[in-house]
Amino acid sequence: MKRQIVLKVIGYALVGLWLSIGLFSGIAQSQTQQQTTTTPSFTVTYTTAETGRGQEIQGLMQRTQSMERLLSGVNQILFLPEPLTVNQQECGMVNAYYSPVDRQIVMCYELVDYFLNLYASQNDPSAPPAEVSTAGALAFVLWHEIGHALVDILDVPVLGREEDAADQFSTVLLARTDVGHAAAQAAAIWFYVGSGQQDYTNIPYWDEHSLDLQRFYSIVCLLYGSSPNNYAGLMQELNIPERRQAMCETEYAETWENWKEIIGPYVRVPS
Ligand SMILES: [Zn+2]
Repeated sequence: MKRQIVLKVIGYALVGLWLSIGLFSGIAQSQTQQQTTTTPSFTVTYTTAETGRGQEIQGLMQRTQSMERLLSGVNQILFLPEPLTVNQQECGMVNAYYSPVDRQIVMCYELVDYFLNLYASQNDPSAPPAEVSTAGALAFVLWHEIGHALVDILDVPVLGREEDAADQFSTVLLARTDVGHAAAQAAAIWFYVGSGQQDYTNIPYWDEHSLDLQRFYSIVCLLYGSSPNNYAGLMQELNIPERRQAMCETEYAETWENWKEIIGPYVRVPS
């Protein structure tokens, strides 16, 4: 019952997912502090899949140019001191990760397949099409991994768990635009559904990630913090106390300010 309410409240149409300048609005530093490098920060590559399903997903990603679309706008705005590769490949498991050794973000074809199945299995007529939610969740994961990469490249001090910091970075950045909100909502649904499948007799408290349900609430909390009016109803449905709601607003503001400070010197909004 609760799950249906959540999915209904969260789900809304997502029409495209390349990120606009709005994502970075308010971050750009003054003219004198702008970086002079023009090297694209991100290059998208593909490793040929070996399995039939892997090849299908690879074909889908190449046809839709999802990663390229997500990053082409970013490449005109964000200029990092070290370039990064976003490689799409078959991994043998549902995964995505950042590899500091070769400055590479790996997005596994299996993760795309997992998202397509996950969102296709949602019996909610008001939810966006599975492909659209998949694109949104992939955007969330991509920004999460970029968060890890920034911690590495820019020597960002992380006070707390880096996995939480990466989730927060992805969420506050996506919360800058309407399509980004829809992307973060898709990710929230992913964690919510995942929490329903959790084996509660054997919870991995040792894991470096927060539990799925905690990740769900953390995303929702920051989305509410970024736009209280739009999420007030959801907070009520989820029985989140007003005291916590107020903290969500503070957490969003602080997280955004902190990341803004960190990436500001590398953002150049075209005139
Ligand atoms: Zn991570």
